[in-house]
Amino acid sequence: MKQDLYDFLNTDLQFVRGVGPVLAARLAEVIGGRRVLDFLLHRPSGVRPRALTDCVADAEPGQTVTIELMVKSVRPGRTFRGRRAPTQIVCNDHMGGTVLIQFFNSNYLEYWLKKLPVGAWRIVSGRLERSGTRAIINHPEFIEEPENIAKIPSMQVIYPAGEGVTQKTFTNIRDQVFAALPDKLIGTDDNTREFFEALHAVHFPGGPDDLLPNATAMGKLAYYELLAHQSAIAISRRARQSARNRRTVRPKKYDLMDKFRATLPFELTGAQARTLDEIYADMARDIPMMRLVQGDVGSGKTIVALAAAVHMAEFGAQTALLAPTDTLAQQHYAKLKPMCDKIGIVCEVLTGRDKGAARREKLVSLRSGRTRVVVGTHALFSEDVEYKDLGLVIIDEQHRFGVAQREALRAKGAHPDMLALSATPIPRTLSMTMYGDMDVSIINEKPAGRLPIKTSKVSAARINELAAHLAPQIASGAKVFWVCPLVEENGEPNQAAAVARHAWLQQYFPGCGLVHGQMDKKVRDAVMAEFADDNSNMPVLVATTVIEVGIDVPRATIIVIENAERFGLAALHQLRGRVGRGNLQSYCILLFGRNLSDDGMRRLDVLCETDDGFAIAEQDLMMRGVGELIGTRQSGWIQYHFVDYRMHRDLFRLASRAAMDGTTPAAWTRDLMYIFDRGDTISA
Ligand code: ADP
Ligand code: MG
Repeated sequence: MKQDLYDFLNTDLQFVRGVGPVLAARLAEVIGGRRVLDFLLHRPSGVRPRALTDCVADAEPGQTVTIELMVKSVRPGRTFRGRRAPTQIVCNDHMGGTVLIQFFNSNYLEYWLKKLPVGAWRIVSGRLERSGTRAIINHPEFIEEPENIAKIPSMQVIYPAGEGVTQKTFTNIRDQVFAALPDKLIGTDDNTREFFEALHAVHFPGGPDDLLPNATAMGKLAYYELLAHQSAIAISRRARQSARNRRTVRPKKYDLMDKFRATLPFELTGAQARTLDEIYADMARDIPMMRLVQGDVGSGKTIVALAAAVHMAEFGAQTALLAPTDTLAQQHYAKLKPMCDKIGIVCEVLTGRDKGAARREKLVSLRSGRTRVVVGTHALFSEDVEYKDLGLVIIDEQHRFGVAQREALRAKGAHPDMLALSATPIPRTLSMTMYGDMDVSIINEKPAGRLPIKTSKVSAARINELAAHLAPQIASGAKVFWVCPLVEENGEPNQAAAVARHAWLQQYFPGCGLVHGQMDKKVRDAVMAEFADDNSNMPVLVATTVIEVGIDVPRATIIVIENAERFGLAALHQLRGRVGRGNLQSYCILLFGRNLSDDGMRRLDVLCETDDGFAIAEQDLMMRGVGELIGTRQSGWIQYHFVDYRMHRDLFRLASRAAMDGTTPAAWTRDLMYIFDRGDTISA
């Protein structure tokens, strides 16, 4: 790839005008990276027509309206019996219809009020709600003077948004990025230009059809994405084959293994034992293992991974376990360390937190081979980290890492075995095309004594009853996760929903905790740790989706998910997996809002009926509508940016054939692999 195009794609989003480091960090949580490239791959989910409506009486609730209104009066918000009433602005349309504009505890109230002087006509655009006969717009997205109507796009592109990132942020970045792009494309080849033209078409859709999977640009991008992925698979397969006979073969031994099994307070489940046998058979072969272990949260993958590491240690070889975040690395370490201690294996943790002398000491221990099991984050493959004999690389939640990162860790050993763990069930119909280079073991059995989580759906209108129901449970020691959805682009910081819910719950359950994406990471971690602590007095943790998938709080037996209809099935299933981790009966309560569609109801029913992640994934695949989910992160198991599982089946075959034939120019294939790799080359 041309250097200046490469540099441009790799530019940190914080350097885009109007962004800065704080917003870039939030963007990274939403779009999964902080490079210009990550933004380009963040596909709009739809378009919203904002053409002017004449009169409010014609508009349906839930619809986005753009309407000219005369500001009549302002009623300031106030607190009444502990409840805060919103600030209300009464307006009339041209036909005399009344519209109420409301602002709930907004930090920007002054700013908004200035935009709505009494007696003036303004064009207001936002989502219309109705309460009885009243028409209401909460937190309008646009308020403009009539002569500035052009500032309101008649066809607004909508991006999957997230905490603290508004639609305006996205369109601002989009406009700047695409303004700068043509310069960087000068002198590039046809493939490259065609690719970026397709991206342009998707970011500037002329209408909703342009974002459908069968639209020309979308189909093109989907093909390229599949080609990149299938090429990576082909390369990895070849590398593995070429390692044949050049690695240490490690047939089953029993000394340490027997000791390890004896220390476990339980028997392995049939599925765990079968998976382990498959792993041992792989390790005894002359080509490196490349195995994916899939199993729901709580199915006991960690023990299997540790047993594999113990087998390595039996031969004096080392294991590195790569986790996607610091918190998860620490949690793995806390779990594995005592088990390793019991059988005399040295276990360490290495993350970005390690600095100075302590870090150097850990590196020495790794280099000497004394440390047999090391758990950590990206720090595990930093340049100065050396292993004496890295025999096994374990990757937790492997879809969160790019090929480049996986390879960097693999390169630290001599053809080490690779074991990937995933709690994200991929429908069987897809796992072949998605993980073509891996053997798959499935842990489809929960440890004995685990009770299925009781799941029910409840209308949000009954939230008071719900709180009353929770009280006795909490009094007897239960802990509750309370998840609030991201509220899309209402002009307000997005944590509002969680903050307001936290305040409300605080009346019932003093000591509630709150975590959201706009809090300092350290504070957030501290609150989560307090919630996880058995002895703390924090009965409820209100959270946005920032709570980590793997977070382990044994006493948490209840999870409430608000606006459950806004999440993907797989995401709901994963959220639900945060409870039911011990032997106590656990509950999941799915609260749904007023505008639940039949389809939405059916999706929630799937969750109430089954606990089987694979069945849910199959259903998700069948029912998923394109672009209907809020964000890639919430969709749970999406791995592709442009590929639609249902529509692009033929492309899978085409791309995989092209990847094997090698008919695509090698340089272009390499560029595509770079573009679509999830590995982030900017260190945070
Ligand atoms: P996963 O990584 O798949 O989410 P873990 O390995 O963390 O699951 O296991 C979840 C919990 O179940 C842990 O507390 C673990 O000790 C326990 N566990 C694992 N295997 C078994 C088993 N065979 N019998 C009983 N408990 C088990
Ligand atoms: Mg786990």
